[in-house]
Amino acid sequence: MIEINNISKWYGKYQVLNDCSVRVAKGEVVVVCGPSGSGKSTLIKTVNGLESFQQGDIVVDGTHLNDAIDFPKLRTRVGMVFQKFELFPHLTATENITLGPIKALSRDKAAAREKAHALLRRVGLLEHKDKYPAQLSGGQQQRVAIARALAMDPIAILFDEPTSALDPEMVTEVLDVMTDLANEGMTMIVVTHEMGFARRVADRVIFIDGGSIVEDCPKEEFFDNSERRPDRVKYFLSKIL
Ligand code: ADP
Ligand code: MG
Repeated sequence: MIEINNISKWYGKYQVLNDCSVRVAKGEVVVVCGPSGSGKSTLIKTVNGLESFQQGDIVVDGTHLNDAIDFPKLRTRVGMVFQKFELFPHLTATENITLGPIKALSRDKAAAREKAHALLRRVGLLEHKDKYPAQLSGGQQQRVAIARALAMDPIAILFDEPTSALDPEMVTEVLDVMTDLANEGMTMIVVTHEMGFARRVADRVIFIDGGSIVEDCPKEEFFDNSERRPDRVKYFLSKIL
């Protein structure tokens, strides 16, 4: 469903991505980890066109991402959930979720609201449907953000460190929602350092360092054969596990 083929990207002279290739099949969950500044956010943002790249090719569900494609349309098909939720502060939970379907997909308002409420129920927040983001905890806001992504009926969702801005007691409620999504067959690329989540939910784990993909293997291999991992992967795992 998602093919990243040999992409490289530079900011001026600084190379942020170096010949990266990743394939994600339909229904697959791929966890991306690696040190801060290694290019994880940049890599996943190339998949929905939030970051450009100078070399290589990306194909999403048969569409080659090049200058000629309709990027707003691509973003309706590949959802994204950010570290800092990025909900609209002046809109309620329901309105945050219906905005995209009404504006970008021209959905009927009443149908969009109904769907938003079903999604809020699914993430356990129906009773908070009319609250503004500031009235919700971080974990609740992030669950609204996930519901918002789902409202577009995406073919895949990209998660960029979705729990790293949360207080520890709220991490589980967000990971539980993501685990349910994965079990329901959603195609997901998840940048996270939650290795418990990776162990339970991921199909594959990718380790990126200095803009290069150092490891891309089934999770069993990543965790169970950790002795055989390159030193920088071992070092990283020793710091976070
Ligand atoms: P990660 O998500 O793994 O922490 P990023 O993808 O955010 O890493 O960033 C990778 C590298 O690119 C970092 O060194 C960062 O400083 C640099 N970088 C990110 N955005 C820009 C930008 N707009 N201009 C220049 N350098 C950038
Ligand atoms: Mg990042």
